[in-house]
Parts: sequence; C-alpha cells; structure tokens
Amino acid sequence: MSENLKILFMSSEVHPLAKTGGLADVSMALPKALHRLGHDVRIAMPCYRSIDRSKFEMEYVTDFPLKINNFTHNCIIRKTGIKCSPGKKRAKASQSLPIYLIDSYEYFDRDDLYSNEAGDYVDNARRFGYFCRAALEMLQKIDFEPDVIHLNDWQTAITALLTKRVYGDERIFKNAATVFTIHNLQYQGVFDMQSLVDLDLTWQYYSPEYLEYYGKINLMKAGLIFSDVINTVSETYASEIQSGALGMGLEGLLSTKKSDLYAITNGIDYDEWNPETDPNLAENYCAKTYMQKKPACKRDLQKACGLPEKDVPLIGMVSRLADQKGLDIIERAMPELMKLDVQFVLLGTGEQRYIEMLYHFLKLYPEKCSFYLKFDAFVASKIYAGSDFFLMPSKFEPCGTSQLISLKYGTIPIVRATGGLADTISGFDARTQQGNGFSFTDYNETALLKCIEHALVIYQNRQMWNVLVKNAMQCDYSWEAAARKYVDLYAKAMAKHSIKF
Ligand code: ADP
Repeated sequence: MSENLKILFMSSEVHPLAKTGGLADVSMALPKALHRLGHDVRIAMPCYRSIDRSKFEMEYVTDFPLKINNFTHNCIIRKTGIKCSPGKKRAKASQSLPIYLIDSYEYFDRDDLYSNEAGDYVDNARRFGYFCRAALEMLQKIDFEPDVIHLNDWQTAITALLTKRVYGDERIFKNAATVFTIHNLQYQGVFDMQSLVDLDLTWQYYSPEYLEYYGKINLMKAGLIFSDVINTVSETYASEIQSGALGMGLEGLLSTKKSDLYAITNGIDYDEWNPETDPNLAENYCAKTYMQKKPACKRDLQKACGLPEKDVPLIGMVSRLADQKGLDIIERAMPELMKLDVQFVLLGTGEQRYIEMLYHFLKLYPEKCSFYLKFDAFVASKIYAGSDFFLMPSKFEPCGTSQLISLKYGTIPIVRATGGLADTISGFDARTQQGNGFSFTDYNETALLKCIEHALVIYQNRQMWNVLVKNAMQCDYSWEAAARKYVDLYAKAMAKHSIKF
C-alpha cells in the first residue's frame, strides 16, 4: 500500500513514558517505524502520574465533558511528542511523533499503572473504559479522522465495540477500521458482570457471543469479536493460542477467528537498544569490537553486583517475576546450576514468592549470584551488555523482547522454544556453525540444565563462540520490515471494514 494512512495507535503503556513490559517497547517502536514510513500516526495513552514531566513537556490540547454511566467526567487531553530521527524517504518524517495523553485525576493520578501492593486496582474496568471512550471522543476535538484504529491488549479492546455498536454514524471515526493486537493472552481484563454498567454498556452484551465469560465479563473478547482483524506477535504463538494449553480459555473463540488471525513478529528499536550508542555501558561496542570491549562491560557488571571479577560464564536475566517466565524451573534447577562454574545475575520485579526465592538463593550462593529487585533501565542495559548468556526459560512467550535485545548486545540467549522465542532463536549447530542461541523444548529443570551445560561447552571453544556471537549480533530484528507488514494488515482491515459497512 503506497498511500499515507492516518492511524490512531492506542496503548496503556508507551516507552519511555510508562512501561511495565514489552508492550511499552512495541508501543513506541512500531508507531515510530510507521511514522518514518510516512504515515500520520498519533498515539493515545493514559496520562499517568508516573510520567516524568521534566522529561516530557506536556501541552494542554483541550478538555470536554464525558458522560459515562450517569457520571460526567471532565476529560483533559494533553500532548507531548517524541523526536524521531529522519526516515529514509520523507522529509516530513523528521517531525516528532505526537502522543495524546488522556488525563483523569480520578483514574490515572496513582503511583502505578495497573495495581498496588493490594493487587490490581479494583476500578480497572472503569479506568480503561474511560480511556477508550475519551480517546474516541478526542478525535472530533483534534479533527483527526483515522483510517485505522490500532488497539493493543485488553485495556484498549472495548474501543472496537464502541466504534461498531455504541457510537453513531456521524462520528469522525465511522470509516476507521480496527486492528486488535494480542500481546499477551494471559491478561484478558476479566471483571464482575456489574462492570458492564460501569462501562455504560447494555445487558445485551452479557451473553456468550459477546463479553460474557464464566459469569463475568471479559474485555479482551470485545477486541477479538468486534475488530476487523486481529493479530498476535509471533507465528508460533498464533497457533499456540488456538489450543487448550495456551488459549487461556479463549482457544475456542480464537479458532473460530482463525481466518482473521494474523501474526507479525515484533522487532526492537535499534535507536534505543544499541551497544554502540547505549550511554549506560562501561564501553560501547559493535560486532567488530565486541571481543576487545565487551569484557569491560562484564567486569563493570560484576563489580556493580559485588560478584568476583573473574572470567567465568555470566548468565543474566531481566524479567517480570511472574509464572510465565519459567521461575519455577529456575528454582528447581538452581542447586545444580550453582554447582557449575557460572555466575547468575537477575533484575526483576513481581510476585512476592519469587522475591523470597531469590533472597533464599542469595543467602545460599552469595559468591555466585546477585539480584536487583527493581525496575531499572540502567541496570537492564548493564545486564544485556555484561552477561555472556541471557536466560529466558519461559513457560510461554508471545514474542519476547529481551532475547532480541540480547542478540544485538552479543549476549547469547538460552530460551525455551515457545512462541516468539521459538521463532527468533535457533539453536547453534557446532557442525554447520549456524544458529544464534540455545533452546530446549520440555518445560522442566532437567531440560533447562542440559541446555545450559551444552551452551557452556560451546562457550569454552573460543573459535565456535566467536562465530556464535557474530551470528547473534548480525540478526536484524529492526522494526521497519515489521512495520511494513502492519501496513499490509491495516489494508486488510480497511478492506474488510468497507465491506461490512
Ligand atoms: P514481557 O512484556 O512479558 O514482560 P518482554 O521480553 O516482551 O516481556 O519485554 C520485557 C521488557 O521489559 C524488556 O524491554 C525488558 O528489558 C524490560 N524489563 C523487564 N523487567 C525489567 C526491570 N526490572 N527493569 C528494567 N527493564 C525491565
């Protein structure tokens, strides 16, 4: 498709403004890549308190009353911009990418994005319902008539229902096709049925063919049912979620949607993740200089972690501490792993039981492991650069961002072959010298340990190791190619939308 599209990209988190995981990375990098291709992309996200106002200047755009379930909110729209370095083709692309921030003192002036120590915020349905309605209402005020509204995960899903069923034909977005991307099917936005009232939706939608889900309502279903096309973030995950094992209760619905379910593997933003320019590293390096310079990054990491500064294989991990990430098999593998001549560094936040597990290991193996229990981009960079291996033994992984970052940093991924990990990491074959990492299939500690032991053998063979690191660093997961696939997907959605309406 050659014409320039107008795209509203809605997401609940956008790096570097607000981030809890890979969704935020995608929500900046994909719009940026589309912008560089010459499309008019506008991002809409909630205006969280945690956004650093000293880094992101916000201008007031407009405000308007927004009535939801008999309560009138004063909706304030602000705007900031992210500078995009010039794209190859268009002069226009050097302008900044606009981000519209939907403000609400009641809903977004809180410490965290989705939850606090007590758990998920109880009004999350209302919070994100408000976000979706406000984003649509905003379009009229800013006079932006999108060709496509791109929705991401459950927090934005209800928008598909609103555009098709709730708002009338006179609206500025009546011609907009909707695309819904599943970034992680585990989080579906399931709430009490009463939330339907909070969302100002009629009881008509409390039925299995719409939002009803085992006596509750499921907001992700709105995205799946009402969007023109749906996609997820890797080929393997697209087929996995149609099965009982990883469909998380929605496998039936997803199977019926099979012909409208596409897969586009995420990229990463190499402006953001590049060992040549990353300001957080002890030494910057590239594929030509990593041999001389990467060791300084390793020593820097060891020093920062209080680990002995010696030449032992260092396994790093940057991860949410959640079930999905394979922490239970790490727990069972740890005693054997710590018998090997390795060091292990982890940066993560999340579930208390895993935090306790890590404290326990820290007490047992203070000379061999070190943990940072916080969210910290600076430390993350140091781990990506300073480790020899990057561990991702996920139970499931829609795409995964961290393995792509570690490839770029010449840090060899050890992954479980699931979802996007299976699609992006190919096991190194000593005979052909092909492959960019190590992977195992069975989800257990035996398979994990065996894979690590094999990786350590290759690590000891310097000739092979250098080939492997080169293979890894040469992988190209830039967003440009993926963004072009999204443009094709938008064309499919627009074609479908024009037939329906
Ligand atoms: P997920 O989205 O499931 O959390 P991904 O691998 O797709 O997993 O993306 C994780 C992103 O979040 C990566 O950019 C990673 O570097 C970052 N990240 C995760 N935990 C932390 C942390 N504690 N501190 C800094 N960055 C983190």
